[in-house]
Amino acid sequence: MRARLVAGNWKMHGSLPDNAALLEAIRAGAGALSEARAAVCVPFPYLHQAQRALAASKIAWGAQNASQHAKGAFTGEVSAPMIREFGCTYVIVGHSERRALHHEDSATVAAKFGAVQAAGMTPILCVGETLAQREAGATQRVVDEQLSAVLTLHGAAALGAAVVAYEPVWAIGTGRTATPEQAQAVHQAIRAHIAAAGGDGLAQRVPVLYGGSVKGSNAAALFAMPDIDGGLIGGAALVADEFLAICHAADR
Ligand code: PEP
Repeated sequence: MRARLVAGNWKMHGSLPDNAALLEAIRAGAGALSEARAAVCVPFPYLHQAQRALAASKIAWGAQNASQHAKGAFTGEVSAPMIREFGCTYVIVGHSERRALHHEDSATVAAKFGAVQAAGMTPILCVGETLAQREAGATQRVVDEQLSAVLTLHGAAALGAAVVAYEPVWAIGTGRTATPEQAQAVHQAIRAHIAAAGGDGLAQRVPVLYGGSVKGSNAAALFAMPDIDGGLIGGAALVADEFLAICHAADR
């Protein structure tokens, strides 16, 4: 059985005092989790704070992006080895906001994926379609192309050591969640795509998270689906009680 994972994506939110309260509340609340794993992906300046607050807890921490380069003249960028120095377990790559607002194509995302693994961390690879793509019947083609970019560059074993997050763009921050059945259909197809590249045994080991307006009130129904292994959580990860309710919904 795959372990469930609930990862918070704080996006560009937080302040030192607000984070201190949030980290302490989720650290305390996560103590009761038995099976589910939890993580928070925080803005770069707060990695040290997350490391200090969560080091002796059940909650892992990570970043939301990394450069594809290990070092060099890339002003303003942050490399995966730098992130690793803060004890991070996870780095989100290919979030739809990075793809849309920062023009990251699938080849760039695949390069970042490799940089994160080379630095000893686990990428959370985000894939997902826009509303226009879904309405045009292109969901599977889009998700397949995003997965194939990683498979072509790094191979199935690399994807087998990662986390995939299916995040329909139309559900992110909109309050409009995919139904459990809609999400399950895409998750099943993601696993089939990975199985075709690396075999069923490998595909069965990859956690495939759902992201897009997950809340305490809808998490259990989503996580009841056989191929939904937890969630990538945006807005609700900033509210300790909501985030913990989602973590507990994942704790079978
Ligand atoms: C996200 O940003 O990855 C996300 C899923 O956001 P939200 O939960 O707010 O839709």
